[in-house]
Amino acid sequence: MNNTLPLYQSVFDVEYDQWSKLLEDQPEYRIKQVWEGLYRGFTLPHELTSLPKALREILSELSPKALEVVSELKSDNMTTIKWLLGLHDSNQIETVLMRYSRRDTVCVSTQVGCAMGCGFCATGQAGFFRQLSSGEIIEQVFIASRRLRALGANQRVSNVVFMGMGEPLANFTALIRAIDLMNREFAIGARSFTVSTVGIAPGIRRLAEVPIQVNLAVSLHAANDALRSSLLPINKSYPISVLMEAINDYRIATNRRVSFEWALMDSVNDSDQDAKELAGLALEVGAHINLIPLNSTPGWPASGSSLSRVHEFANLLESLGCNVTIRSTRGAEIAAACGQLANRKHVVGKARRLPGSVTAFSDLSVPK
Ligand code: SF4
Repeated sequence: MNNTLPLYQSVFDVEYDQWSKLLEDQPEYRIKQVWEGLYRGFTLPHELTSLPKALREILSELSPKALEVVSELKSDNMTTIKWLLGLHDSNQIETVLMRYSRRDTVCVSTQVGCAMGCGFCATGQAGFFRQLSSGEIIEQVFIASRRLRALGANQRVSNVVFMGMGEPLANFTALIRAIDLMNREFAIGARSFTVSTVGIAPGIRRLAEVPIQVNLAVSLHAANDALRSSLLPINKSYPISVLMEAINDYRIATNRRVSFEWALMDSVNDSDQDAKELAGLALEVGAHINLIPLNSTPGWPASGSSLSRVHEFANLLESLGCNVTIRSTRGAEIAAACGQLANRKHVVGKARRLPGSVTAFSDLSVPK
């Protein structure tokens, strides 16, 4: 037994070869049992009853600490389940499972906090703490998969959306390893992953070069530079013209349709003029538009547009020739609307402030 397993943040950071080294005195089938237990059976190594007890005890000692479910909130009809998860270093993240009749989608975080500073987003207001490892990203889907099994679901996690805490393209290497492993080992189809970005143009180009073709969602929220820069500071680095070039290149390279996410804010970005500007950009690159009313956060004065305004805005876009979907604010009663993870009570002051972080961690909320 080689007990020199390097320090990992999650058991899903350990590569197959590393398990081979760790269990070098064990037959090959034991390594397969551990690997398949994790990725097919959603079972941690020390829980594998097919392994000898002594080996399970060793694995329990050597394995990285598992993500801990600090709390679980459920919508009344159990269609949305949100977890607050504790990491090995006392930081906390959120993950949401959204259940539909024919699919189960997990919304995962890719960073603790976020450096993008979008004013309407509580995570952006709080600042950046650290990157998640690829294993920590995968483990969120593992936890959702275990929960589904406990619920007796007859289907597995089918879709993963990277719309939780953090900007996925700012944690590129971990993101891609996580997608690759989940695609191969959890058997989640490439096109069942959606990467949501606030508009990091070089990251979009980089994503186009990755062999696995995933869906790309761009959080636009404003279609002119003045408004967009006031809502999304990243727009000062990558203004709309630069972003549109990157999207167009992505579209040509991948032949994939991009979607624009638009969180409708009352009297901020929901005028007829906003709709016309948005339509112009969407038609330019053949983008699908997803509309959702903003979930308010304490640090931002604007509230979400009324449902009637959302429908008027959608109708106007459609009359201009756009493809539009109004997304439901699913799980809003447990602060888990699609694309927004809002924590109202658990996280305040709990996350450990790490060197280099710029603000105190006060909340989690991610309208991408
Ligand atoms: S909206 Fe997304 S990119 Fe912007 S601050 Fe929030 S988590 Fe970061």
